[in-house]
Amino acid sequence: MRKLLIKGGRLIDPDTRTDEHLDLLIVDGVVAERAPELTPDDDTRVIEAAGAIVTPGLVDMHVHLREPGREDEETIESGSRAAAHGGVTAVAAMPNTEPAIDTASWVEFVRNRESQIMVYPIAAITKDRAGETLTEMAELAAAGAVAFSDDGSPVVNPSIMRRALEYSTMVGLPIISHCEELGLSGRGVMHEGLASTMAGLRPIPAAAEEIAVARDIILAKMTGANLHIAHVSTEGSVELVRRAKDDGIAVTCETCPHYFTLTDDDVRSYDTHLKVNPPLRSASDLAAIKVGLADGTIDAISSDHAPHSLEEKQVEFDAAPPGMTGLETLLPLTLTQLVQPGTITLERAVELMSTDPASILRIPHGSLAVGAPADVTVFDPDWAWEITEDWFVSKSKNSPFTGRKVRGRVTHTVSRGEVVFEETDLNEGDARDEGEREPDVLSVHV
Ligand SMILES: [Zn+2]
Repeated sequence: MRKLLIKGGRLIDPDTRTDEHLDLLIVDGVVAERAPELTPDDDTRVIEAAGAIVTPGLVDMHVHLREPGREDEETIESGSRAAAHGGVTAVAAMPNTEPAIDTASWVEFVRNRESQIMVYPIAAITKDRAGETLTEMAELAAAGAVAFSDDGSPVVNPSIMRRALEYSTMVGLPIISHCEELGLSGRGVMHEGLASTMAGLRPIPAAAEEIAVARDIILAKMTGANLHIAHVSTEGSVELVRRAKDDGIAVTCETCPHYFTLTDDDVRSYDTHLKVNPPLRSASDLAAIKVGLADGTIDAISSDHAPHSLEEKQVEFDAAPPGMTGLETLLPLTLTQLVQPGTITLERAVELMSTDPASILRIPHGSLAVGAPADVTVFDPDWAWEITEDWFVSKSKNSPFTGRKVRGRVTHTVSRGEVVFEETDLNEGDARDEGEREPDVLSVHV
């Protein structure tokens, strides 16, 4: 028997409505026991977690792992190590690879690659993501796809989107929509507003996203399908989803840390790491995203992890590809930007990064109930530190957050009972907040 005891931590598990100091015993990859004081026997590995938070492993439902096609930027294996480093034990990988994940054999390819954590394939809605012919959705579902998306591109033709939604209900999987009205976004590269005028960059209005969100909500109502809206970034989109939920339409949505951390004003630096699609929005959009996260309109925080090589990013803003790496900064940015200022509670943060995305995708994650698969994230909520380029494990370092000071850091990641990441750099030289933490917080016993 393989036994692991996580001892002395504050266990936060929204699925079982738990927030208390409990030891967590894992036996053979499954949560075996939870109690205030458990005593290890000789062959039990112990993780001392006093002062730390213990939660179900994070679930990132929107990542780009670049394999097949751009293995120089990321592979499923390197992306899974970045995930483990970020406390993420399950990811859903978007199908905009080269070639696209649009056949059962490509779905199986993604599932069978070597990986430190659980990687779930999202299959394309249309063949080659070209927006013209639906994929064989039943076959893709049978092969193990957990959702369908043409992410990176919208499904332009509403008739094709309608049929995709109808078929998706038959196979019981959600459609994840990249909402963008191309006729409005055109060749734009940043949010339309005062900042785009000052920067002299081609603008993308908020309406380019909102028109597409409205269309897909109407189609979801018409078909009764489960629609999930990817990377919501504007106030108007939040309001459309809020009203749709009030009307009983089966819609869920996600946002990403950059949309509650950065604004279009930051883009005036012309840093190509700030180029994302949808673009960074205005301060009022950012405020609305925060309200949506707190009131339950937004269901999940995903990273939209989009690794790009430095050569690709070291060009003019207009020419750079959109996207930033994100798996490793998901948790510290959420803690720093949302939990510490009191916008959301720690429990709500765990719902947004674990429990709720797991339930949207219907995957066996997001719970520390006895008998659940033992995917666990342990983090020190008070650890103040600065993100540095060499700290990233991902093959690509295209993060605008390098140099940023954050608070909260993953110390251990457990996937199916195995420790897949542990922080070895516990040196006191890091600027830890001694004033606000108990002494002797993190020592690791192996
Ligand atoms: Zn994406």
